[in-house]
Amino acid sequence: MASVTLTGAEGRSITVPTGLFIDNKFEPATSGATIDVENPSTGKHLATVSAAQAEDVDRAVQSAKKAYVSWKKVDSGEKRRLLNRLADLVERDAVELASLEALESGVLYGVSRALHVQESISNLRYFAGWADKLDGDSLSIPQGLAYTRREPIGVCAAIVPWNSLMIAFWKIAPALATGNVLILKTPEITPLWGCKLAQLIAEAEIPPGVVNIITGLGNIAGQALSEHNDIKKISFTGSPGVGRRILETSAKTNLKKVSLELGGKGPSIVFADADLENALFWTTLGITVSNGQVCAAGSRIYVQDTIYEKFVEEFSKRSRDAVHGDPLLPETTKGSVANKAQLDKILEYVKKGKESGARLLHGGERLPGDGYFIANTAFAEVDQKAPIMQEEVFGPLASIAPFSTLDEIIAKANDTSYGLSAAVFTNDVNKAFRLSEEIESGMVTVNAWGMIHANTPFGGVKESGFGRDMGKEALEDWTTTKTVKWNILPTK
Ligand code: NAD
Repeated sequence: MASVTLTGAEGRSITVPTGLFIDNKFEPATSGATIDVENPSTGKHLATVSAAQAEDVDRAVQSAKKAYVSWKKVDSGEKRRLLNRLADLVERDAVELASLEALESGVLYGVSRALHVQESISNLRYFAGWADKLDGDSLSIPQGLAYTRREPIGVCAAIVPWNSLMIAFWKIAPALATGNVLILKTPEITPLWGCKLAQLIAEAEIPPGVVNIITGLGNIAGQALSEHNDIKKISFTGSPGVGRRILETSAKTNLKKVSLELGGKGPSIVFADADLENALFWTTLGITVSNGQVCAAGSRIYVQDTIYEKFVEEFSKRSRDAVHGDPLLPETTKGSVANKAQLDKILEYVKKGKESGARLLHGGERLPGDGYFIANTAFAEVDQKAPIMQEEVFGPLASIAPFSTLDEIIAKANDTSYGLSAAVFTNDVNKAFRLSEEIESGMVTVNAWGMIHANTPFGGVKESGFGRDMGKEALEDWTTTKTVKWNILPTK
């Protein structure tokens, strides 16, 4: 089978097969179709991988269907052991996984290693622990007894975006722990970490067909998955446009269950009584880490008017400079964005920001080099209705505006079609409570941003989607409830 050898962090030589992973074997697409993968830090060709077509998707589904018959009956302790075994292997090969992600997406190796890969391991271990704790309820009914069972859904699919490999683990871990089998479609611009993961799944001896991993284009392989009548659930993370299409396709085919994790336009709200140092640290991180290509990015920063000028000046000082370059090197503090399309989209929003009359504090320009590097950018006094305050940029672009009262900021925070995440900075517990109740958002952090943990549900409201990854809520998403009712007959 074709493979590619690349040099990762610490000079590590990494070889991964580049085929479709079906039945624990790598094979090319039946048609021989391939996708070229680019290194966005250099603009150069990195690898060529197989591109699954509809017939390959069907092959993966048939393999998964066969695997499901036995996997759903595998003892929960064995499922736990296999997930923990996979976690051990991911931990062992963390350098390779993080290097591949850095090479193909431009994310800093250090961020991938410490956050993306680490959270992937945590999710595998967290859901391994749930495998034997999928209890139902015992219910009282007149003249009888009822109980519920949490049962797997069957053959499921996960379609994931390019910005973090950990999202795939948010889906694989609960899917397997609850007895489902899964076809994972990796993103066309970052397929290589998926090829590595496939190797580890085979090495962990997870039975063939329980996880099939296919690379392919969204409108071909992704579309074929969403149309397939034997797939009973799709867990999707990506853009709202594609999410809507998957939902529509489900309605037109077999009404497969769909969960959608879509974008966001997260508000970070800084009150005058907040710990300023702390607020500056998190608000800066919230829009610059991974170049803001984070669905939960804190891209709208609202600051109370009495500290506004001081905050804006400090924020600009701290977030403007970065050392851009090779994401594998420890001295690099800014990687490239994921591809040329992403760069152009962000530059287009810079233009819109200028046109809106907002004040450009810093950045806005492409940085030197062959890769797709863009300066950290911030606009101040951004109008609430400006595109950069309403639309997801998915780039290192902060939109800052002042506010005065509590009611005003609640209205502004909720004035968006999105509702994924929000951050509130204050030392007043009453304000923090009121905002965490009133903000329309799947997640709110107080005096921090992000704080991702396997134990905490992740997902949105409004047009950010529905369904939850992580936490015990994810178990609901990956199971179905069966109610069993007994009529207790009179005894003599
Ligand atoms: P995207 O929607 O273009 O692609 C996501 C995945 O969907 C890819 O694997 C792609 O191949 C596939 N796809 C594309 N067309 C498809 C189709 N017709 N049918 C089925 N699958 C198809 O998104 P992207 O550009 O990869 O990622 C960026 C977007 O994802 C941003 O909007 C961002 O906010 C969002 N995102 C959300 C979260 C979250 O958890 N809420 C996390 C990361 C990214």
